[in-house]
Amino acid sequence: MQLKILSCSENENFARNVVAAFALPLNPTLSELSDIKTAVSEAVTNCIVHAYPEEEGWIVIDCETDDDTLHITVSDSGKGIDDISRALTPFYTSLPDEERSGMGFTIMQTFMSGFSVKSAPGKGTTVKMSKKLGAKADRDAR
Ligand code: ATP
Ligand code: MG
Repeated sequence: MQLKILSCSENENFARNVVAAFALPLNPTLSELSDIKTAVSEAVTNCIVHAYPEEEGWIVIDCETDDDTLHITVSDSGKGIDDISRALTPFYTSLPDEERSGMGFTIMQTFMSGFSVKSAPGKGTTVKMSKKLGAKADRDAR
C-alpha cells in the first residue's frame, strides 16, 4: 500500500487511520493498533513540522506485510537532518520554542519493534518501522 499526502496537519489523523486499517488483517490487539497509530502520528508530524517548515510538501507512506509483521516507511523530500544521533537523543528538539518535547523518535522506537532513520540534509528523511502483530506475536513472546 502506498499513500501520498500533503504535509498539512489534517492529514496526520488521516494517515494514521489508513495505516491502522491496513494493519487490521494481521489481527492486531487494541494496544498494538494504538502503538502503530501513535508511531505513524509522530513520524508524519515530524514531516509536517520539521521537513517542510515553510510550505507544504509531499509525504509518502509505504506499508507492507510480511507474514505477521507490518512494515511502514514514512518518507519526505524536505529539509533533512544533519546530525541523526543528536536527533534521536531523548528530549532533543531543534524547536524548543514551539513547546516540542523532543520525544517523537523515542516514542517511535519504544512503540515499534524495528526502527531506523536515514536522512540527507536538503534532500529528505526516511523513517522505517516494523512491528510483529496479533495472536501469533503474543504466542511467540510467551
Ligand atoms: P516532539 O516529537 O516531542 O514534538 P521533536 O519533533 O522536536 O519533538 P523528535 O520527533 O524526536 O522531536 O525529532 C527530533 C529532531 O529531529 C527534531 O527536533 C528535528 O530537528 C529532527 N527531525 C525529525 N524528523 C524530521 C524530518 N522528517 N525532517 C527534518 N528533521 C526532522
Ligand atoms: Mg517529533
